[in-house]
Amino acid sequence: MLPDVTSMSVRSISKRVIIVLFDGLRPDLINPSLTPNLDRLQRRGAILARQRTIYPSETRTALTSLVTGTTPDRHGIVGNQYLDRLSAPPRSVDTSDDRLMEYLDEASGGRFLGAPSLGEILMENGRTFSVLASNSAGAIRLMNHKARTLDQVTISGHFPRIGTPAAMRERIEALIGPTPAPAPQGTPDLATQSFLTSAFLDVIWPQVHPDVAILSFGEPDTSSHYSGIGAPETLEAIGFVDAQFGRVLDWWEAEGASQGVHLVAASDHGHVTVQARADLFETLEAAGLRCGPVPEPGIDAIVVPGQVGAIYLAEPSGVAIRSAVAAMIERPWCGSVFTAGQGEVDGIAPGSFGRHLAFADHARSADILFSYRTDDAVDPFGLVGRSWSPDWPVGFGVHGGLHAKEMSSVGILAGPLIKSGLVSQVPSGICDFAPTVLRLIGISRPSTMTGRVLTEVFADGAEDAPRSIETVHEARDGGYLQHLRRVEVGAAIYLDTADVLSCSVRT
Ligand SMILES: [Zn+2]
Repeated sequence: MLPDVTSMSVRSISKRVIIVLFDGLRPDLINPSLTPNLDRLQRRGAILARQRTIYPSETRTALTSLVTGTTPDRHGIVGNQYLDRLSAPPRSVDTSDDRLMEYLDEASGGRFLGAPSLGEILMENGRTFSVLASNSAGAIRLMNHKARTLDQVTISGHFPRIGTPAAMRERIEALIGPTPAPAPQGTPDLATQSFLTSAFLDVIWPQVHPDVAILSFGEPDTSSHYSGIGAPETLEAIGFVDAQFGRVLDWWEAEGASQGVHLVAASDHGHVTVQARADLFETLEAAGLRCGPVPEPGIDAIVVPGQVGAIYLAEPSGVAIRSAVAAMIERPWCGSVFTAGQGEVDGIAPGSFGRHLAFADHARSADILFSYRTDDAVDPFGLVGRSWSPDWPVGFGVHGGLHAKEMSSVGILAGPLIKSGLVSQVPSGICDFAPTVLRLIGISRPSTMTGRVLTEVFADGAEDAPRSIETVHEARDGGYLQHLRRVEVGAAIYLDTADVLSCSVRT
């Protein structure tokens, strides 16, 4: 029998990986007419049909999990904003502030994150890493927070100051034009997506030839938030980023794949649509807690702004936590609730789960973590998934909680070492990308990673899919009953979804 020359030559070529991120893209919006290029990639590669993000399903928490291969309880970015109680006095840390994170990393001797990320791991292994992204400044910094000291390439589609090294940004701007300004809210953010795609195809790939690259599109997240997840503006943004991805895919089909390049398409979370306003602050004030966004004299409850429910109490006694939770779970907007754990499942407040069940137990974690209640009704665009919200207007897209449409995220892999035409029903998660990408380029999974290598999508992987075991946890208090589903594959555990099944609503 003749040797398989094609596969032997593919095996001998050094491998590279390009991860293309679509911020906030729901997998159920991928279809041949709206996203013909993602659809084309799906047919060329393997689809992770049960892909999940982490909790809270927020961009900067999720992207940190993507680059560290770990859950938030290990990497420590427990939310877009958190209270650092270890500093004196406690300070509020907003991870949208890229310079603050660089400062905190330096001040902590390089331990701002609790686990090494791809930039550091690749550098240690003598490999190169480039990030090009049109997300917020903080999100871009978290994709490689040590890029400046490691002298790795970072190109922001909106914020030139983040660009490293400065000479590379200047080279790109000289060739392609100035870094585009963000589009006004409610207008699709398009110019930056083509700017970054050109920067990648015309400069970074030919000149740097990175072993691993991230090309991250900030849309459709921006338009989903400010126009709605099925609005014409958002559909335009999705079509546009898909077309930019199509430029990468055309190059990959023409030459990248034969050069050993693998493509990964992913999103960091989905979206659901706001259906009603939650009276969170009124509820907490009625329970005797004076609320504010940051620690200040006279403030009892520091409530992190936004869709993610996170409350830090100035005096976090068990009595105070139980009293606040008791008031919250009576309200119709209250979804899943987590507090410090006692035992395997329960939190210290009746009805709540322990934070550890959601991989959210960290020194930076809030005393009360919760999501807003969701349902499976359709929104005005005909898309399933609605949520309450404390501050986003009705009809707009939000995320942060544990509804299936927030947790489900895009996962597609393609390349010479990946099965083609596979729809994998094996549960997977955003922490799996880093160990899988490292394996593709010949680096073994670091022990700091909780994610697993997705061997079931490898062309030389076993035919039999790994077994998964699902567990449904339950917590109840009075008429409030919440469920949390987790699923195990080997040593990896994924959060699937959570919901509230019944409640006693105070009238
Ligand atoms: Zn996002």
